[in-house]
Amino acid sequence: MAEKIFDLTLTGLLALDFANTVDWRTSEHPDELLNSYSDLIRWSQHTELLTVAQAQRISREAARRPAEADAVLDRAKQLRETLLRTFSATAARRQTEKTDLEFLNAKIREALPHLQIVPTADGFSWTWTDGEDRLDRMLWAVARAAGELLTDADALAQLRLCANEECGWLFVDTSRNKSRRWCKMEVCGNRVKARRHYEQVKSKR
Ligand SMILES: [Zn+2]
Repeated sequence: MAEKIFDLTLTGLLALDFANTVDWRTSEHPDELLNSYSDLIRWSQHTELLTVAQAQRISREAARRPAEADAVLDRAKQLRETLLRTFSATAARRQTEKTDLEFLNAKIREALPHLQIVPTADGFSWTWTDGEDRLDRMLWAVARAAGELLTDADALAQLRLCANEECGWLFVDTSRNKSRRWCKMEVCGNRVKARRHYEQVKSKR
């Protein structure tokens, strides 16, 4: 079931996908998708941050070091909330919090020493090396992706908060006429339309 929820959260942008790991965030009943360190691993696999082999290895490590796994989950959520505040502010053309940027920069500084280029069949690619047993390695790519998004003026100009006021998800509007309002039409658009229809029927009575 959680896999299905994760499917819905995919915007194609890692930092936003991570920020969107609370469902119905701005409603009265937010639905946390990262309830355990295992959820964080499953999300990381789903978004291809970890291969199956890496996920298995890190799961075994987490089972041996449960307190550390819990601490990583806490840090992950701290990073997520930082990203959410920062991107929401940016989407609303508000200034971002200085402390949030400091926190994100600290995470980027932790991540970047692990980044290297490796040769591939047709050139080179970026890869995260060493620390195969590090329980927080998936956060490196999230922090870097957040930095890349914040420095991408074109993407930032299209950053939106879903128009469903109970949703709280962020997305980048790549539609041609820049008129997209919902994170996903099938999730929020239909729900809001259904409610509007219901209210109209109700008011006619
Ligand atoms: Zn939405």
